Amino acid sequence: MTAPMQTLLDQIAAKARPLAAEGKPAQYIPALARVDPTKFGMALITAEGEEFTVGDADEPFSIQSISKLFSLALAMEWVKEELWDRVDREPSGMRFNSLIQLETEHGKPRNPFINAGAIVVADALYHRRPNIEWGFRNQMRLLARDEAVTYDLEVHRSEIATGDLNRAIAFVLKAYGNLREDPLDVTRAYFKFCSMAMSARQLARAAMFLVAPQENDAAPAHGQSAPRLHALMRTCGLYDQSGEFAFQVGLPGKSGVGGGILAVDPGKYAVVAWSPPLDRYGNSIAATAALELLVQGGGA
Ligand code: GLN
Repeated sequence: MTAPMQTLLDQIAAKARPLAAEGKPAQYIPALARVDPTKFGMALITAEGEEFTVGDADEPFSIQSISKLFSLALAMEWVKEELWDRVDREPSGMRFNSLIQLETEHGKPRNPFINAGAIVVADALYHRRPNIEWGFRNQMRLLARDEAVTYDLEVHRSEIATGDLNRAIAFVLKAYGNLREDPLDVTRAYFKFCSMAMSARQLARAAMFLVAPQENDAAPAHGQSAPRLHALMRTCGLYDQSGEFAFQVGLPGKSGVGGGILAVDPGKYAVVAWSPPLDRYGNSIAATAALELLVQGGGA
């Protein structure tokens, strides 16, 4: 990278932020549709622990599908290889909440980052601990080293009210014998994980186990899963835009419909960019652009 990091982030924010005008925040979850579309924040933390931020980097946002990375890390630790009997590891090439693929593939989700796969992961966690919502929250607090991290209950209620497609996915999983617990309980837990609210800085801190081994109560076992999580992030982290993201950005990443994208350069840094307006794949337009500019060294 050519310019000093802070200058680089300032330049990136100036270039990427206006691009948000080309999209809209997620409309299918009413509480997300109401988020201020002009927000933009970015946080980058180096392997050495240096933190750089720009814009609204300390404002919590709904992490949505970025939670799938952390719920998977937990399931890989608790359930181990058995998990892979229930979910595959291939890019889906289809929308994140597609029901068609799940049906034609007899209830085995393509990967743990599409909704069907994350619902299987939520089932595995819920089966082990029915109070997993609190276990998950505590895990995020430990990883972020911040006791203030918590759920956004308005987003949670909003998703329960409008989440029929996800409930349909859970019932299809159940019909194919790939859900142990009650579909309504499991989807509630899944929606809860998605409703976690964190700032770009908190989320980047939580992702440091993917960058370098951490001295953190929560991280040692997660760290062992890091190479596999990187692989899944590279191939499936941005749904049916994963190939394009790999081509343009080239870092393992994970997006969410709250407008956040988390990416890591293993051994070097974790970065989170956030801007609510999305493209047609459900990925943030300005956050994607910001990460492209970052890897190009500002693109000046
Ligand atoms: N909670 C959202 C949903 O299930 C998560 C989707 C996403 O962030 N891509 O639709």
